[in-house]
Amino acid sequence: MARHHPDLIFCRKQPGIAIGRLCEKHDGICVICDSYVRPADMVRICDECNYGSFQGRCIICGGAGISDAYYCKECVTLEKDRDGCPKIVNLGSAKTDLFYERKKFGFKAQG
Ligand SMILES: [Zn+2]
Ligand SMILES: [Zn+2]
Ligand SMILES: [Zn+2]
Repeated sequence: MARHHPDLIFCRKQPGIAIGRLCEKHDGICVICDSYVRPADMVRICDECNYGSFQGRCIICGGAGISDAYYCKECVTLEKDRDGCPKIVNLGSAKTDLFYERKKFGFKAQG
């Protein structure tokens, strides 16, 4: 599977009470290290990243969120869950993905 682009930047602001969400494509992934194993701690994001149209959006790609985001056991052990809001703020190429995803879903909807 495609790993995060190395120049992705996390928001890192003080998390609030909002739970981070993930889309169908990123469901079950650790937002920090891309691992699919041992989800441990629920991801909390900052108020800004849950504001208005961002609410309920995938924190990796901005797509429609379908499940809660988790940090894996390893990232919790390394205290990477304490680094602040893990929403990716420079979507860049992820936006292109989203565009293609929309087209795909549109096609599916038409039968
Ligand atoms: Zn992890
Ligand atoms: Zn944030
Ligand atoms: Zn996503």
